[in-house]
Amino acid sequence: PDAIMVQELANRMAERVSDVVKSLMQMGMMVTQNQTIDQDTAELIVEEFGHKIVRVSDADVEDVIDQVVDSPEDLKPRAPIITVMGHVDHGKTSLLDAIRNARVVSGEAGGITQHIGAYQVEQNGDLLTFLDTPGHAAFTSMRSRGAQVTDIVILVVAADDAVMPQTIEAIAHAKAANVPMIVAINKIDRPAADPQKVRTDLLQHEVIVEQMSGEVQDVEVSATTGQGLDQLLEAIALQSEILELKANPNRAASGAVIEAQLDVGRGPVATVLVQNGTLKLGDIFVVGEQWGKVRALISDSGERIKTAGPSTPVEVLGLNGTPEAGDVLNVVETEAQAREIAEYRAQAAKDKRAALGAATTLEQLMANA
Ligand code: GDP
Ligand code: MG
Repeated sequence: PDAIMVQELANRMAERVSDVVKSLMQMGMMVTQNQTIDQDTAELIVEEFGHKIVRVSDADVEDVIDQVVDSPEDLKPRAPIITVMGHVDHGKTSLLDAIRNARVVSGEAGGITQHIGAYQVEQNGDLLTFLDTPGHAAFTSMRSRGAQVTDIVILVVAADDAVMPQTIEAIAHAKAANVPMIVAINKIDRPAADPQKVRTDLLQHEVIVEQMSGEVQDVEVSATTGQGLDQLLEAIALQSEILELKANPNRAASGAVIEAQLDVGRGPVATVLVQNGTLKLGDIFVVGEQWGKVRALISDSGERIKTAGPSTPVEVLGLNGTPEAGDVLNVVETEAQAREIAEYRAQAAKDKRAALGAATTLEQLMANA
């Protein structure tokens, strides 16, 4: 019996994972994006979404969804993908920097740390992938574009400030996305630090941390002194183990764009988080409304690499245009196919914008009246 992860099925169909989860729920199946469903169920879902699948030509659609199914024995453990969220000034950026500086995998100490929007660190031989763009906007805009690229949310709460409005927002985002949280009680070095207040505040928002006999791990940290960073990484590794995150490295790659820009010297460059399969030099791909052929892959430490497997963030060169954060990348077989799908999507988006444009104008007229 073959199985496929819900996230992967959504990627292959270019549908939002939340819509797929919703459909599954309506069929009576309570699953999350990281769980697998069997082939029969996957086929039902594909049928259900059939009228919405990107229609270039039937043959192309076949090719895009052709490889839907990964056998369970093909799935291998992959690194968790971690997003840091929390109230402004509670130390998200400081924490990401502290972890990166203390634990970068291949960037040499003292070397220039490359910023590509995500980085990997090693924890007892296991890799952890951090998204380097803290903040709710990134999280929600990626989600709204159909990419769910977070397995674990680190909720940063300053011990001298406790729960604030954006803390509550972050909790809501994590819950809506069905992503487990780990609470990092930061600034524990401050004289005014009151970690217990953070824990009791969180209770009011139905986040019951371990110290309050709940199941959400909480770790006291200081991004400034480095205190607790090891424990935080251990907590992440433990949470990751519980999630049993898996992907199939031996297939055509799919992934999500974390950030993209037009580089004067290098042309369009996208940082892609590979979610399934392995992206290789020379691969032909479609990404949102763009397409390309991988000319170079650059790792988070600035090295040129030949392949990037599941949960690896990588800069991709060789695009014909600049995609948007949240766009999904799929490797396809031929350039003609890639171009056709990209053009089809561009046209569809244009049609949609035209339709939306009319509606917006009407709304604006009403609002301004
Ligand atoms: P962000 O808005 O959540 O990204 O917060 P920042 O990382 O920019 O931190 C806000 C301020 O808090 C900065 O001045 C940091 O130096 C300071 N800060 C962050 N973490 C700590 C900490 O663990 N201890 C202390 N004492 N200050 C911290
Ligand atoms: Mg910041």
